[in-house]
Amino acid sequence: TLPLRVPITLPNGITYEQPTGLFINGEFVSSRQHKTFEVINPSTEEEITHVYEAREDDVDLAVEAAKQAFDNGWSTADPEFRAQCLYKLADLIEKDSEVIAGIDSLDNGKSLFCSRGDVSLVINYLRSCAGWCDKIYGKIIDTGSSYFAYTKREPLGVCGQIIPWNFPILMWSWKIGPALATGNTVVLKPAEATPLSALYVSQLVKEAGIPKGVVNIVPGFGKIVGEKIATHQDVKKIAFTGSTATGRHIMKTAADTIKKVTLELGGKSPNIVFADANLDKAVKNIAFGIFFNSGEVCCAGSRVYVQDTVYDEVLQKFKEYTESLTVGNPFEEGIFQGAQTSQMQMDKINEYVKIGTEEGARIVTGGERVGHKGYFFRPTVFADVHEDMRVVKDEIFGPIVTVSKFSTVDEVVSMANNSVYGLAAGIHTEDVNKAIDVSNRIKSGIIWINGYNMFHQSVPFGGFGQSGIGSEMGSEALLNYTQVKAVRMAL
Ligand code: NAD
Repeated sequence: TLPLRVPITLPNGITYEQPTGLFINGEFVSSRQHKTFEVINPSTEEEITHVYEAREDDVDLAVEAAKQAFDNGWSTADPEFRAQCLYKLADLIEKDSEVIAGIDSLDNGKSLFCSRGDVSLVINYLRSCAGWCDKIYGKIIDTGSSYFAYTKREPLGVCGQIIPWNFPILMWSWKIGPALATGNTVVLKPAEATPLSALYVSQLVKEAGIPKGVVNIVPGFGKIVGEKIATHQDVKKIAFTGSTATGRHIMKTAADTIKKVTLELGGKSPNIVFADANLDKAVKNIAFGIFFNSGEVCCAGSRVYVQDTVYDEVLQKFKEYTESLTVGNPFEEGIFQGAQTSQMQMDKINEYVKIGTEEGARIVTGGERVGHKGYFFRPTVFADVHEDMRVVKDEIFGPIVTVSKFSTVDEVVSMANNSVYGLAAGIHTEDVNKAIDVSNRIKSGIIWINGYNMFHQSVPFGGFGQSGIGSEMGSEALLNYTQVKAVRMAL
């Protein structure tokens, strides 16, 4: 049988103890059926360890623990207590930040440069959520002289949270932080490809003094554990991040028990370069927009649009800059792009290179894997594309970008909006009026002007259209974990 902790040495020499059990009611436990699954290092294609695999009966236990914790004090605890717990958790994560960044680089394949950035966002976000605990207000409503009315924002209960593999610890924090700050308890399923960091930090959850049952972690597969969470009678909300296809399915499943649903789904975000932009900066931003985190980013700027008068110049600069990006061992200092997370992603990327080529798009640079071991893929730029090609329409979720030409503002706005998605968009121009005008006309939830992938814990992040429902971060995320109660008292 698998021990509940295994020693792991990271490629940079750091050693730590990796919990392998489910985290239920404040303890690491084996799954009831004692099943395990393998966790792969995408940089070497070798096994890192096994972890226990939750099944339906384990989800029942986790939900029961969360329900007890909700009813027995967490939901009515002093806000200061919840804040202290979250501040302490942030401090413990900060202390262990190199280990946690290393775990995500090992498990996901992302470069240390990316995973360190993720961990610092996690710390900031948990502290921001801690600060919100005593700032969840209702309002008083003037209803005339016959009665008095006020509203309260109350927690929902047990929240089911299902997260993807592209930002394992960051997505964990985006889910746990606002849920706990507002008095909810959670059952969270990490992605099957990347369960390690959520298990590691569970011991810090305990050490931070968060009562047992408030946070439960059930690693396992979407079709078993995810389905069970989405259908469970006692789960009051599903917060999901992942593909639009799975989000659509979860929304239908959750309808049977009228769960609240928030979805953070896919995208095919436009990144626009106007001729009056600072072109050197714009080139760096469009590269960062797509190749950051190996292109495995829901808001990746995967459709670049360049104004015709500077198209050739920008394409040439973009090619040169892209070719200067380093790809390789995520633990090597200075590496920009690590490995793709799974064989499945690698296959998908290869398939889209083939599709794009068959559709008649031209590979300007990239288009092939790097080395023979590990899922490394060269940053890839397609040009000579037209708007109905699949490489321009579909979310690829890898380091592949298309570059199109436009001449007028109206034309590029219409091209940018020609998508079922509406997550993010980038606009590069030195003309502030044009920047504001175009940002008003683009149908997406996030706009970056003269930058890309700029995140802040106080700024909401969420999509229009088929990119989702609700927002992460900012006050919006917290309110999505509350329900309004109206109290009226006759005078
Ligand atoms: P996915 O949406 O299937 O998986 C995300 C999470 O949902 C995982 O934890 C998974 O176990 C769970 N899940 C899967 N099926 C479920 C179900 N029936 N009920 C409940 N939970 C379920 O994504 P994937 O298959 O890992 O990746 C496929 C594609 O999705 C990627 O190539 C990419 O295009 C997209 N994707 C987008 C994001 C994003 O942040 N927008 C994240 C991951 C993947």
